[in-house]
Amino acid sequence: MSAMHQELAEVLQTLPDEQRERAAGRDFWLGHWRGHEVVAVLSRIGKVAAATTATALIERFGVTEIVFTGVAGGLGEGVAVGDVVLARSFVQHDMDASPLFPRYEVPLYGRTHFDTDAALTERLRAAAAQVLAHPADALGEAAVSEFALHAPRVHEGLIASGDRFVATSAESQALRQSLPDALAVEMEGAAVAQVCHDYGVPLAALRTISDRADDSAHVDFTRFIDQVASRYSAASLDRFFELL
Ligand code: SAH
Repeated sequence: MSAMHQELAEVLQTLPDEQRERAAGRDFWLGHWRGHEVVAVLSRIGKVAAATTATALIERFGVTEIVFTGVAGGLGEGVAVGDVVLARSFVQHDMDASPLFPRYEVPLYGRTHFDTDAALTERLRAAAAQVLAHPADALGEAAVSEFALHAPRVHEGLIASGDRFVATSAESQALRQSLPDALAVEMEGAAVAQVCHDYGVPLAALRTISDRADDSAHVDFTRFIDQVASRYSAASLDRFFELL
């Protein structure tokens, strides 16, 4: 599952045999990746849209594992543009049913965080680490110097999701204060993690840091996704399927 259409386009270039199927107003692409049966799809943006996509993947297409890629704003110290964050767990930063339930707790679940699958995440982390060790192989030398990706890092930890593109320093500072463990912020992951929790489907999620969720968060977003994030995602997935 890709959060960005450029990522999905890169993925579809790799699949030799995909067939399109429509469901829930979305295009699902059924095919093979290094011999493994896959369904590729755009998550769409925001929590509800991504939850619908994940539910359709599970209910309609019977997927047994979900791997989710996209971009995110960096929150944690040292989480820089061009780095990659693997989610160990997700929280909805805009969930607040207090005082009925504690802040961030998803009502009736008795929990604030939804974990990804440790084994699947480890395999995706290993794949991403191989790609980031030689960024020029996936991106070309020109992109590496244009975006100054000389020593990109792989982080692992908490990602916060909410229905808001965080693009001011004030807002990212507030998030840092209320969720000090959060490494990155995006708009879909926690919803997909909740659906995977409901169905008992293992999830791994990788986000390339496209911005620092601050006042310059919109700068060259599209170009970065085209030139860097989509290629990291597709190359990491390729390694992931090779390691399976
Ligand atoms: N221009 C894009 C829309 C981007 S919406 C397009 O045409 O598709 C933002 C996407 O990037 C979402 O998938 C979200 O999860 C992620 N994202 C990246 N940086 C973010 C930030 N600072 N705050 C919230 N979401 C962010």
